[in-house]
Amino acid sequence: MSNSPTIATQCIHGGDIKDSLGSPNMPLYDTTTFKFDSTADLLAVVDGHKEGYLYTRYGMNPSIKALESRLAVLDEAERSLAFCSGMAAISSLCLSCGTQGIICLGGLYGGTKELLSQQLSSLGITTYFVAANDVAQLEALLKKKVGLLFFESPTNPTLTVIDIAAISDLAHQYDALVAIDNTFASTINQKPLKLGADFTVQSATKFLGGHSDLTAGVISGKKQRLQAVALWRKNLGQMIAPEIAHKLVRSLSTLSLRIQRHNDNALTVAHFLDKHPAVKRVYYPSLKNHPDHEIATRQMSGFGGLISFEINGNSEIATKLVDSLRLFALAPSLGGVESLVTQPVTSSHYGLSEQDLLEQGITGEMIRLSIGLEDVKDLIDDLEQAFDKLKH
Ligand SMILES: *Cc1c(COP(=O)(O)O)cnc(C)c1O
Repeated sequence: MSNSPTIATQCIHGGDIKDSLGSPNMPLYDTTTFKFDSTADLLAVVDGHKEGYLYTRYGMNPSIKALESRLAVLDEAERSLAFCSGMAAISSLCLSCGTQGIICLGGLYGGTKELLSQQLSSLGITTYFVAANDVAQLEALLKKKVGLLFFESPTNPTLTVIDIAAISDLAHQYDALVAIDNTFASTINQKPLKLGADFTVQSATKFLGGHSDLTAGVISGKKQRLQAVALWRKNLGQMIAPEIAHKLVRSLSTLSLRIQRHNDNALTVAHFLDKHPAVKRVYYPSLKNHPDHEIATRQMSGFGGLISFEINGNSEIATKLVDSLRLFALAPSLGGVESLVTQPVTSSHYGLSEQDLLEQGITGEMIRLSIGLEDVKDLIDDLEQAFDKLKH
């Protein structure tokens, strides 16, 4: 073959995944331990002289290894580590690489914010929170030799996009490691490692799993850098279960196809909302009026399934619209086959002060959609009927 297979093919064939009996996919190894022919064999595997399986919590299980090898191909990484949740991945990363301090840039997932601002700081790890566009403050902190820079792009719910290549370059000048939470874009739409990041993290609970039926996480990067992360994963007991690894491999086989449809559907809905008289503003990176449109076009190959918008009116009117939707389910989370709706002030950002909301650009009249794989005509019909209800 002259060209290497493209991502849609890699979703189905990538990695070392076939078993010795000829099954086209790795069967589920629902087992906690593996036996050896001799002590010499056992020690060869324990000491890493020989490839082999040993104990599932260490990740030395065929179902987990198969998943990780496929994830590494998709992330274009030397190695991937699978975890029992996105937060498990983020916490192991921060504990292994963040002891000299962690800088966060821009908006963060609520769990990450709580972990960093309340829990890691109580362990003596210094954490800094910098606005997405405040490069001067970022550089001032990097000069203090803070070890890890962590950010999301795009962020929730304003879909703010951060220039991964430029910021990684800057951080590397000061020897900081760079980790990107790539959950919103997914590995199909954005490749943080190719753009210069050291680690890419995803909550596999979202697009990678894609059916709102599993909880998992992944980190990819250079082998040597992941060793310390793997040790924290092992001893915090954050390993993915073999059943979930097996289920996730199956989900990955349709990932490229699903993301294509998420992208297409979201683009259509974003244009519909952008033209709608009841809508004040749409946040979707492919729209020319999105403040980060130009960066997004440079670093993303598709713009993903998340859209936020503000309606004319106030928080109560936004709630009325949300409650009038029939096809869109009112539920947190994102990235599944089914479309979901949330109002950030009553969900992900509930209870925040006016000042915090203002700083993060979140308003009461803002609504976030996770666009699923339904026929987009039906999604637009549902939005239309909900907008009509606002008139009465
Ligand atoms: C959901 C989410 C997480 C946490 O993932 P879990 O699998 O729920 O632990 C982290 N980051 C982002 C951006 C998320 O959306």
